[in-house]
Order: sequence, then structure tokens, then C-alpha cells
Amino acid sequence: MTFDLVENALHSLREAISYYTEADEGQNADQFKFSVLLTCHCAELLLKEILVRNHPALIYEDIDKIGNIDREADRQTVGYRLALLRVKNLCGVDLKQYEDYLVELGQTRNTVQHYKCVIDGVFYKSLLSKSFSAIEYLLLDVLHLNFEDYLSVISPDDIAFLHKDTKAYNARKSDIQKEFEQKTAIRYIIIYDAKTKFKPYCPICGTQFLAKGDGIEIHCKFCGANFDNYQDLCSQDRSCLNSFQALRDIGRRKGHLCMPIYPCPKCESKTVVYLPETATWECLSCGTEFSESIYCDECGEPMPADITQIAISDFDPDDYKKLCPECASKFASSDEYIDYTLN
Ligand SMILES: [Zn+2]
Ligand SMILES: [Zn+2]
Ligand SMILES: [Zn+2]
Repeated sequence: MTFDLVENALHSLREAISYYTEADEGQNADQFKFSVLLTCHCAELLLKEILVRNHPALIYEDIDKIGNIDREADRQTVGYRLALLRVKNLCGVDLKQYEDYLVELGQTRNTVQHYKCVIDGVFYKSLLSKSFSAIEYLLLDVLHLNFEDYLSVISPDDIAFLHKDTKAYNARKSDIQKEFEQKTAIRYIIIYDAKTKFKPYCPICGTQFLAKGDGIEIHCKFCGANFDNYQDLCSQDRSCLNSFQALRDIGRRKGHLCMPIYPCPKCESKTVVYLPETATWECLSCGTEFSESIYCDECGEPMPADITQIAISDFDPDDYKKLCPECASKFASSDEYIDYTLN
């Protein structure tokens, strides 16, 4: 069985999680000790993967000497602290608040490994929560990998645990929140009507931690899922999280919106909204994009050109009116349109 760096890292993480779950703040807090060693091992390997990706030589402690040492096994690889420094200074990775967590994890690992140590369950639990959060950041945001690609080494249960364990979960959530507040990550939002903000849900993990990715349109900070665009996101939204949210959102603002809302010809939800930034229209339920506005010849309201219906005179093809869906629905019962056909 051979593991590459990331597989090796996640294998250690799996074991770290298993010690973490067995440990108890009071009774058998000593289990945390093994969890710290393994978590630090995992972080170290992920840092090395970042180094290797930047340049294969960066993984060796003394870059200038490696040419003289033939056997790979004789070459000394970088230690944890140096790996951390190189990732930051040579690879230019912004480690954000996670740098402090990783430094603290390394220090604690040294204490555990080399000195007499006192196991304080509460301390270890919080350190490990923060460390798991840092590991997720390295894996998902820096390396752009997913746990799902490593199911042979780490099981969905372990991943679910990482997300469900309340402390780890809350640490991760508040860290992402911090990134948004400090603007080191930009939240993905849709601005509709005049300046109403719609915060979509990630269809994979159900959180609202979607960010604008680097070269990726939408990236979930929480589970690492990537989406080409909002339509792609909606196509994976099997629980209709965004459709329900859009209907609630629009319903709550009824009477306070400047622009009309239209039913979507594709998904039939009444969630086609105006996007002021592009002056086009979009369905918040299915992500279908519509063209720029034209105006209804009957009521004068703006609408996307592609949902217009046209009433043409049966006698004169130059006599026609562009109607919004609402006016078109009144068409059949109106005397005015007796000699007109609706297209
Ligand atoms: Zn997600
Ligand atoms: Zn739609
Ligand atoms: Zn109209």
C-alpha cells in the first residue's frame, strides 16, 4: 500500500479524529495526546504538498545540498516550522488566522513529544478544533482538493464528524465568517431589484458560505464544492434550498420592491428578478439568465425581452403589442384584443 502525501495526511487525520472522538475532557483526556501528534503530522504533510507543488526542492531542508546526495532517503526533509515559513514566505500563501493555530499546534506537538506534558482536556479540545479548521483550509482553499476524492483513506463518517462536532463546526464557521468580515474572502451574493441582497445556499452542505473563487465562479468555503456559475449551482440543488429561500425572500419584500417579479418560463417559479449590476434578469430558483429589459406596451412595466408575449392584429401584421405575462393573461378576456392573436 502506497500513500502519496495527501493520502498519508488524510490517513493520519482519520486516526486523529478517532482518538479525538474517544477522548473525553474529564476521563481519558490522555487520548488527546495521540490526536495532537497525528493532527500535526497531517498538517505537516499538507504543508509539504504545498511546497512540492511550488517546487520539488522546497521539501528538502537544505536546498543547496540536495544535488550532492544521491539517495532520496538520505535527504533531510523540512521540519514543521520551516515548512510553515516556506509556505508563507516562498509560496506566498496567505495563511490568515490559521497561521496562529498551526504554530500553536506545532508547539503543543513538541511539548507532547519531547517534554513532560499535562493533558488539559479543554485546552486540547479547543486546540484540535482550531487545527481541524486549519487543515480544512489548507486542503480545500489552498490545495483545492476535496475529502470526497480520498474516500479510500478517510470515510464520509469522519468528514461528517468534522462538520458535525459542534466545537469544530463552530470554530470553522466563525473562521469563515472572519474571512468574510476581514474581506480576505469575498462572499458570493446576488444583488437584485435595486440593492436587495440574496445569499444563496450551497446545495452540497446547506451553508451560506459561498465565496467568489479564484478563477472559479462560486466556491463553498465550508465543504469545498465548486460551481461554474449560479445555474450550475441550482442544477445541483435537489432540495430546492435556493428556490424556497428566493420565494420567502421575495414574499417578505412584497410591496417594497421597485421592479416587478416574473414567473420563470423554465422552472415556473415566480422568481425572475432584475439584476441592477448587469441590467439583465435572472431566475433565483433555477439560475436561468434573461436578456435586458423592454417595456410592456400595455402597463409600461419593464420585463426581460425573452418572456414577452406579442399580440398581433389578425388584419395588420404591423399592428402588434408587446405584453408582460400579467397583461397577456388578461388578453383573452379583454374586448380590446378581439381581433388579435397572442404569440
Ligand atoms: Zn458547501
Ligand atoms: Zn427558473
Ligand atoms: Zn404589462
